[in-house]
Amino acid sequence: MSDLNETPRGMRTVIAFLGRRNAGKSSLLNALVGYDLAIVSDVAGTTTDPVHKAVEINPLGPCVVIDTAGIDDVGALGQMRIEKTREVIKDSDLGLIIIGDGSWTDFEEEIYQMLKEKDKPVIAVINKVDIDAGKDLEILLTNKNIEYVRTSVPEGLGIKELKEKIRAQKKAERFEDLSIIGDIINAGDLVLLVVPLDLGAPKGRLILPQVQTIRDILDNDATAVVVKERELADTLDKLYVKPGLVITDSQVVLKAAGDVPPEIPLTTFSTIFTRFKGDLRQMVEGVGAIDQLQNGDKVLIAEACTHHALADDIGRVKIPRWITQYSGKDLSFDVAAGPNFPPNIKDYSLIVQCGGCTITRRAYCNRIETAAEQGVPITNYGIAISYVQGVLPRIISPFPELRDLAEELKAW
Ligand code: SF4
Repeated sequence: MSDLNETPRGMRTVIAFLGRRNAGKSSLLNALVGYDLAIVSDVAGTTTDPVHKAVEINPLGPCVVIDTAGIDDVGALGQMRIEKTREVIKDSDLGLIIIGDGSWTDFEEEIYQMLKEKDKPVIAVINKVDIDAGKDLEILLTNKNIEYVRTSVPEGLGIKELKEKIRAQKKAERFEDLSIIGDIINAGDLVLLVVPLDLGAPKGRLILPQVQTIRDILDNDATAVVVKERELADTLDKLYVKPGLVITDSQVVLKAAGDVPPEIPLTTFSTIFTRFKGDLRQMVEGVGAIDQLQNGDKVLIAEACTHHALADDIGRVKIPRWITQYSGKDLSFDVAAGPNFPPNIKDYSLIVQCGGCTITRRAYCNRIETAAEQGVPITNYGIAISYVQGVLPRIISPFPELRDLAEELKAW
């Protein structure tokens, strides 16, 4: 879990530094952040694992840079390195192809094709122009219609321009500026948050999705009121203003649905996060797979962080219990926790994914995409719990784009 003073990783722009060992990635990165970060190794064979580092790049703001040191250790991209590079590219918002010797080799072409395949913005960096002017490369990049910038770190050339180009891409791609619930609340609204402090809650603090939601409410000039589920009904009685929205922890959604009058919109943290990070419609459509489960089927519970699981954990205990009770089938459940999504998921009949508050939108969407590619239905914690507890139409009603689905579900 991130330090509370830091921007969560899931809200940072992710930039992949791609280039051969001699390209000058290390010094370029140091020039971008303005200090000696020293995470990039130019020594052959030091690592083949990508290194992720949270940095602040002025004036771009909070970013994660992913260094791919070692990907050209054997000249061309070997199979293992191709896989690792693909993973890095998948999780990035933008790829920088850094060239230090003025030549566009098969390596750069392969990387470029991978970036295009994934529809990622690309900026080529003709680095070390103090040593090699890179004029032929400029012509080649222009012909290929690839955006580029010329840099020389010792001469301080092109660094500002590179930041400008990254910033322009950020704007074009809307890597930032999205609000979690800004489009479904109004300034001045009171938003009531239901947060159980049970055995599963960490001591002495709120969890990241709750903190991020409170911040989003404040950013939208609304008021956040936080209660435990036990005080929910009492608090609603005391309030003389009707909340514009109630957001509950999924684990107590049934109680919240009973306590919150039907005219007040109600949803769950997990649902707003899956909408913010990915494709809520697909997650809602995926939940029907619970009705198709058969004896012996495997279900994957996917969590994007490795938080310490406590008694009665939602992913390990509660969701398996509720799905088993609802389906009446003999099922087996696996848990995949952490930022890496298992590449092979074909054996599963259903994936139940958490809200993914610690990963970027790209990484979250990649999970949905991987599931679609392998033909495995995917849904989300809040959606699955609300479905098996019979309150899903209400939980998705606050989102205008899903009203049709909510009506369909009500008619079932
Ligand atoms: S399990 Fe998922 S939603 Fe919960 S804190 Fe971890 S990443 Fe965030």
